[in-house]
Amino acid sequence: MKYLVTGGAGFIGSALCHRLMQAPDAQVTVVDKMTYAANPASLDPFKGDSRFRLVKADICDFSRMTELVLTEAPDVIFHLAAETHVDRSIDGADAFVQTNLIGTFAMLQAARALYEKGGKPGFRFVHVSTDEVFGSLGPEGRFDEATAYDPSSPYSATKAGADHLARAWHRTYGLPVLVSNCSNNYGPRQFPEKLIPLMVLNALEGRPLPVYGDGLNVRDWLHVEDHADALVRIAEAGVPGECYAVGGDSEKTNLEIVTLVCALLDARRPARGPHRDLITFVADRPGHDLRYAIDASKIRRDLGWTPSRDFTQGLADTVDWYIANEGWWRPLRETVYAGDRLGTVGA
Ligand code: NAD
Repeated sequence: MKYLVTGGAGFIGSALCHRLMQAPDAQVTVVDKMTYAANPASLDPFKGDSRFRLVKADICDFSRMTELVLTEAPDVIFHLAAETHVDRSIDGADAFVQTNLIGTFAMLQAARALYEKGGKPGFRFVHVSTDEVFGSLGPEGRFDEATAYDPSSPYSATKAGADHLARAWHRTYGLPVLVSNCSNNYGPRQFPEKLIPLMVLNALEGRPLPVYGDGLNVRDWLHVEDHADALVRIAEAGVPGECYAVGGDSEKTNLEIVTLVCALLDARRPARGPHRDLITFVADRPGHDLRYAIDASKIRRDLGWTPSRDFTQGLADTVDWYIANEGWWRPLRETVYAGDRLGTVGA
């Protein structure tokens, strides 16, 4: 099988590459612009492997994407490349509109060029999206495939627009598109601007642990390797034109997550006082959605996918991974992002 993975040097894309490369006959080409969020070290294990190729390119480059897709003729395109940090989208939406909307348009057009040549029977375009497109829930209820779109941030609005493009390319042109809407991912190799790695690294350095608002916003958490398994399952067995809600049934408030990280570090890296003393409540994120939760019955029932990692164990393993892999994150902390507050415009 030949796979083309956009955004494969990012957090989920690299986990997906690790998953795909386990199959001895898999060939994987990554297309990544190598923005601040990419880390080539995440793909180090594949250096020199003739089955793997990293192409540094912008998905907004229409002619390059079409040429690449036609030349590679993949069986599956996994489209993950995106600008992904909500706080950065609040500070400036330009790159989000470009990559998430125009870039998705370019990838769909490139895929269409391949599909309409009739070259690849069974070809699939898996568009990887987020539960954030559905907006905010109150204390009850869960998102599923029938939930109306109601995005709150520039990030989620551009992902919502991209989902609409992807669905329209199926309905209008017959492109075999499948859409996944997944909850918050955690695990190794996540850029340290996101909640869990930011808290782990700040706590290791004895720096404040900024919790937005009252810390009671709820997210559903899924281990990134379970997400990678779900994407593979969707590509293998999903029905073109269908959407799949993917989640871990692990709802936690942000404050619960930070408190759990502190307890794990107290046991592993005892400091003078408990790490929870570093928790600092800061001004809330503008437009901060209260709660996300996913009803993943459809993918469980129709595709037989189920998450296999327990959250408590997965979080402990993730904390251990950051402790053991300073060489992965230290250069990012020192040269790309030191952990400062982002996303306060409009607050
Ligand atoms: P990430 O920010 O870690 O990685 C994104 C990757 O895309 C980076 O390697 C970056 O260099 C690349 N990229 C950005 N702009 C590009 C461009 N114009 N051309 C080519 N490459 C470009 O993101 P992630 O957390 O791995 O998320 C991957 C996908 O999964 C995104 O589409 C995101 O919306 C979706 N998603 C993420 C989560 C989550 O919790 N992280 C949950 C659900 C869905």
